[in-house]
Amino acid sequence: MYDYDLLVVGSANADLVIGVERRPAAGETVLGSDLAVHPGGKGANQAVAAARLGARTALLARVGDDAHGRLLLDSQRTAGVDTVGVLVGGAPTGVALITVDPSGDNSIVVSPGANGRLTPADVRAAASLFHASRVVSAQLEIPLETVVEVVRALAPDSRFVLNPSPPRPLPQEILAACDPLIVNEHEAKVILGDACVSDRPEDWARILLAKGPRSVVVTLGAEGSLVASSEGMTRVPSVRVSAVDTTGAGDAFTAALAWRLGAGSSLAEAAAYASRVGAAAVTRQGAQDSFPTAEEVESL
Ligand code: ADP
Repeated sequence: MYDYDLLVVGSANADLVIGVERRPAAGETVLGSDLAVHPGGKGANQAVAAARLGARTALLARVGDDAHGRLLLDSQRTAGVDTVGVLVGGAPTGVALITVDPSGDNSIVVSPGANGRLTPADVRAAASLFHASRVVSAQLEIPLETVVEVVRALAPDSRFVLNPSPPRPLPQEILAACDPLIVNEHEAKVILGDACVSDRPEDWARILLAKGPRSVVVTLGAEGSLVASSEGMTRVPSVRVSAVDTTGAGDAFTAALAWRLGAGSSLAEAAAYASRVGAAAVTRQGAQDSFPTAEEVESL
């Protein structure tokens, strides 16, 4: 028996958001809106998304011993995430400084802070969490060597799900552990590099599979997703919704997919459920604030 349906290993950031009429040029100062501070980071987002759906969820992450770190711990606990694996100190909490212009375009500066100090030793010290978790998910907002240690720490029959964001070339050891590797178009193209010779998601999935993952999911925004494994490929449509803000949709999709796979769903079934979760998330503003409960997914 596992204590956790999902262990998320990843980043936790404070998102500091200011609306601006236009961005400042070098040396210039512009006035903006009141500051809004939101809990974010892909790891924290995935954990909240899974817990809100009802998954027994734990987060392994690092935050600073500061107000942003306390905000992140509070938001995780409020969502029902077990924060026993959230380490405190070593650097300030990661921050994303975000300006949003009237057309909705973002400019973002990220200071990884404590996320960059989540080390392979931290992963080894959390061995009991790995043994207690049916599925483990990760992203790439923490050091790559830490993600390598994550795949080494997996319990023998647990499952590993990776969203390689922000994307970079991946070592074979990580690729071979992914079941699935979940990429959007941009991530697929970066990981494929020179091997990306076509604009067809089916071709990306085929070449990605040949690199070692047991399965691949390509997310396609409003078009849904493509799931691929040695058993074949299927397009999974999303639900038609009117999109308000797509921030966090990929995180919600990944968390939901990981949870449903752990519960025994097939890849296509899990992707269909995750599509509804991603679709629900785009109907509301924000990232964590937009993630649905299981009841809201049912009623979509
Ligand atoms: P990312 O945020 O990583 O780029 P996507 O934008 O592909 O990921 O979104 C992840 C999933 O969320 C999609 O596969 C889809 O199921 C769902 N989704 C995203 N945007 C929409 C939308 N506009 N309408 C319906 N579903 C959506």
